Amino acid sequence: MLPQELTPWQALRRSLRLVAQAAPRELRRLAYINLITGIGPSISLLLSKIVIDEVTAYLKQGSTDPPMEVLLGNSLLLWSVAIALGVNLIVDSVDAIGTNLFASLRDRVEGFVRGKVLDKVSYFDDIALFEMPELLNLLELTEKGLARVQRLSFIVAATFVGVFTFIPSVLVSASIGWWVPLVLVVSATPSIFVEMRHHRKSWRVEETQSSVSRKMGIYSKAITSPDFAKEIRLFSLQDVLLDRWQGLFETLFSNMEQVRREGTLTVMAWSLLGGLGVAAPYIFVVLGVLNRTFTVGDLALYTGIILQLRRSLFILIAHTGDLYDVSLATAPIFQLLDLEPQLVSGSQRVLPSGSDRAHQGIQFQQVGFRYPGTDQPAVLENLTFHIQPGEMVALVGENGAGKTTLAKLLVRLYDPTVGQILWHGQDLKTLDLTALRSRIAVVMQDYARFPATLRENVGWGKMADLQDDDAIHTVLQEAGIAYLTDTLKHGLETPLGRQLENGIDLSGGQWQRVAIARALMRLHQAELLVFDEPTAALDPKNEHEIYRIFRSIAQGRMAVVVSHRLALAKLCDRIIVLEHGQILEAGTHDELMAQQGRYHSMFTRQASSYRDEPLYSSVG
Ligand code: ADP
Repeated sequence: MLPQELTPWQALRRSLRLVAQAAPRELRRLAYINLITGIGPSISLLLSKIVIDEVTAYLKQGSTDPPMEVLLGNSLLLWSVAIALGVNLIVDSVDAIGTNLFASLRDRVEGFVRGKVLDKVSYFDDIALFEMPELLNLLELTEKGLARVQRLSFIVAATFVGVFTFIPSVLVSASIGWWVPLVLVVSATPSIFVEMRHHRKSWRVEETQSSVSRKMGIYSKAITSPDFAKEIRLFSLQDVLLDRWQGLFETLFSNMEQVRREGTLTVMAWSLLGGLGVAAPYIFVVLGVLNRTFTVGDLALYTGIILQLRRSLFILIAHTGDLYDVSLATAPIFQLLDLEPQLVSGSQRVLPSGSDRAHQGIQFQQVGFRYPGTDQPAVLENLTFHIQPGEMVALVGENGAGKTTLAKLLVRLYDPTVGQILWHGQDLKTLDLTALRSRIAVVMQDYARFPATLRENVGWGKMADLQDDDAIHTVLQEAGIAYLTDTLKHGLETPLGRQLENGIDLSGGQWQRVAIARALMRLHQAELLVFDEPTAALDPKNEHEIYRIFRSIAQGRMAVVVSHRLALAKLCDRIIVLEHGQILEAGTHDELMAQQGRYHSMFTRQASSYRDEPLYSSVG
């Protein structure tokens, strides 16, 4: 599932296609406008030549007629002046339209591309996108690419100006001598390539540094995020985090600076050659005027046109270099859009119900798992067990034993590397993901705190019932937070989370109960409940109550509870003890206690520290 390499040329072609798709109308209009603003100055120069030649011819005659009469009497002069003024007026006024059009083009393109990326990311079923460093780097580079897409719009617009100014300039300058445009173009061309090479180099640095800039992002987010604010202050961690960020910034900056310095020097050196290219035709025209092969009007025209040709070449060169840079930067966008998830939905929409008893429930068959992109040993190995319909299974074990990973496989956030998981006899991979997930209610360890209202935080558990107040009140009641609708100022419509305007933050335990309420919303359609460390944020009294809620909602359903608190495990029908990704012990609480193995020692150790709790009180 690693990103495929893309050549800058491919990226450029695809970026331009995106621009054309995003804003075809703006692009067409911008082309017309830039045609006018591009050709306008050449026409003006031609007309100025005529005006100067007519005026000098008149002055040479030594006539003393009143100026206005001369102007009105010479129709060539009169029309040239009138048209030159008209052209200037038109160019100036359409310039304003161009600026607006460019702004719409830029916004449309950015919105279009960002929308495509967001769509891809949100429907990317494979959670590895958020857990594999390579893919996280790709996300980071994509974000940078998106910022440069704006630049692409600018380049496209500027290229129009460049081309439309360049063509008439070449034609007019060729009338001095056929070699003039040739000298100008040839002398300027090397700097195009130098500039392109420079951009490629600086992009390579940026690309190799993407993990550095991602780390910078992590530290800057830690410094600015409310999640860390308290502890950073209480433990005085400001300097540690700032130093790390600063250190990374210095590394990134000095690498970029070096490339930039080298680039500027070479580009400057080659620009000198371009300067010489301008000097030759310029001197040629001045000499031509002095020995009367050219008129004074020609001198004005050619001086203007040489500078204009040079300017349009410069626009084209600068933007060709930029174009290369932008196509390198946008490549990650297409790499992301092309990324194929390893985990793909199956096609079977109607989930099996298990025709014979032996196949009912969920079966793990020699399941092994290794996180993609890591070379660490397998996290889970050779797991074979069966969750019967209606059975509540506890997964217990030390930290890092693989419990959460197993829960992730169960809800198909990942696929096993080896072996298979059967849902009523059928491989999970063959089932439609949305259909499968609608049958599973999950409370994750790192449950989401959506920046949304209380209603949405709960109702998003079952979109169809989002507006069903009774359903929402019922689950809030079951999760033990019915009182929130009275205490929060706007009841169900109260925005949760401080990042929202007027948002109210809840306590960790309350947020956890909101997550539970969300899972409860889909309870009646859920066949499997998965609770990953559901009581981590709760005090013992609340913990006890949550156990009771789980026990009652799990009635008649398959349930898997990951917990290192064994009081909950005790309530389950069966307990699986994991160690280093393998099953060490399995059985009921009583069986495992009788075995006097790992579970027994873990339970006794915990019970002694919670002796007064009712759940442990039977243990002596
Ligand atoms: P538990 O829930 O039992 O504490 P986990 O399932 O979270 O254990 O982790 C099991 C092992 O997998 C640990 O060694 C952990 O470092 C590793 N691990 C967990 N998540 C990832 C991940 N996204 N990428 C790579 N390794 C991971």
